[in-house]
Amino acid sequence: MTNPKQSGSCLCGAVTYSFNTDPIGMGQCHCRDCQKVAGGAPGHVVLVPKVALTVTGTTKTITLESASGNQVGRVFCPDCGTHLWFDGGEGLPFYPLKVGTLDDPSDYKPGAVLWTTSAQPWHIIPDDAALFDKDIG
Ligand SMILES: [Zn+2]
Ligand SMILES: [Zn+2]
Repeated sequence: MTNPKQSGSCLCGAVTYSFNTDPIGMGQCHCRDCQKVAGGAPGHVVLVPKVALTVTGTTKTITLESASGNQVGRVFCPDCGTHLWFDGGEGLPFYPLKVGTLDDPSDYKPGAVLWTTSAQPWHIIPDDAALFDKDIG
């Protein structure tokens, strides 16, 4: 991302956010959970340091066990249902933020691709990213 300041919102605009730093990474995830919540596509995320994210509006979080067996919160707008970011708990210093909610997602380029074993035949997997069968590590 070249833009030093990014902003974004849910579909209805009740929740908006901004951050004043570059994402510390970008990734996409083909696990079945991401496919379900995204309506079929993989999850495309930019990693934003938690301390950098400013949020307006009220979000709701549903915490479920991920494909990796971790408790992962999915933060969304309670009005329109847009999934905004993940919250992996206090051990994770960043939020994987759904790239489609950015006002300008054009600079997205995933460096890591997770859960390629769950990818659908019609998903596009970039060949210049680090590929992982399942989760990292
Ligand atoms: Zn909304
Ligand atoms: Zn996933």
